[in-house]
Amino acid sequence: MDIADIREAAELIRTGGLVAFPTETVYGLGADALCPKAAKKIYAAKGRPSDNPLIVHIAEYSQLSAVAREVPEEADLLARAFWPGPLTMIVRKNQSVPSETTGGMDTVAVRMPSHPAALGLIRESGCLIAAPSANVSGRPSPTEAAHVAADMDGRIPMILDGGPVGIGIESTIVDLTEEVPMILRPGFVTAEMIGAVLGREIRLDPGITASDSVIRPKAPGMKYRHYAPKAELILAEGETERVIAEINRLTEEKRQKGLRVGVMAANETAGRYKADCVLCLGPQGDGEAAARQLYGTLREFDRQKADIIYAESLTEKGVGAAVMNRLCKAAGHQVLYV
Ligand code: AMP
Ligand code: MG
Repeated sequence: MDIADIREAAELIRTGGLVAFPTETVYGLGADALCPKAAKKIYAAKGRPSDNPLIVHIAEYSQLSAVAREVPEEADLLARAFWPGPLTMIVRKNQSVPSETTGGMDTVAVRMPSHPAALGLIRESGCLIAAPSANVSGRPSPTEAAHVAADMDGRIPMILDGGPVGIGIESTIVDLTEEVPMILRPGFVTAEMIGAVLGREIRLDPGITASDSVIRPKAPGMKYRHYAPKAELILAEGETERVIAEINRLTEEKRQKGLRVGVMAANETAGRYKADCVLCLGPQGDGEAAARQLYGTLREFDRQKADIIYAESLTEKGVGAAVMNRLCKAAGHQVLYV
């Protein structure tokens, strides 16, 4: 990718078209955020439910006040600490933001990405760019250009290829329209990091930890089965040796029924499984490696035609909590406590 590609992509955005582009979290599918027709194209290309709002990407801090009714003081603090970077803030929107972009909500999600191609595209286009992840709705988010191509082939005119992304899971979303700031989606920037900057406790949306039917999450997108491979995914939680034994027992049972079984494991335990395909998420306890590899690995199980996947659960330390959140959703909250 060079400057000519960025210019071509920027021209597409300016004229109301769609472009997939890399960010540090996952690949995004971008369009002019302030143009209702352009925003609508995103929903069509992804097959995304129209009540699921888009994140508006900006390249300068001053652009936040171009879409916000008012900029809360805490947004200022958080922007100083985490922008450009993987943190999305929800604020009240002003009239310039069309309801197509916000899925009918009177708030807007805003983020300043740190990836140079993303920043270059926003600046070169002169637009604010609405961009959800560049996957077909419900599929794992794309972490390399080939994933975007697999999902979006024929549906969009251009993909900017920036190689594999650095983080691998979507941004943290923090809602600043509540009395107490609330995390609507966990990510690389953790609740502890945000709390430390704001100097107070923040809350976690109870809807994201409960299983889907119990409490409705505040971010509309978090209510859907999501991030999911085609195969059925089951998480196994418990002491390592018991998890290995149980997964091997279930593997045997399913294979006898003629199913192709996949196992998602840590590097250290992968050799202990007797499944049709065993894929590693990285060293035990390394949440960052797991985040980077999660979605590519889920897609690889599809490529290897797994019918059912058993996944070891991860330590919920740091970004590990966000990876577990995605895994639980991909599994439709099917968790085996061994
Ligand atoms: P994606 O763009 O695929 O990373 O998804 C964006 C996420 O942000 C979805 O879960 C949306 O529901 C959520 N989101 C975007 N705007 C808002 C908003 N104004 N209020 C609450 N959640 C939002
Ligand atoms: Mg998404």
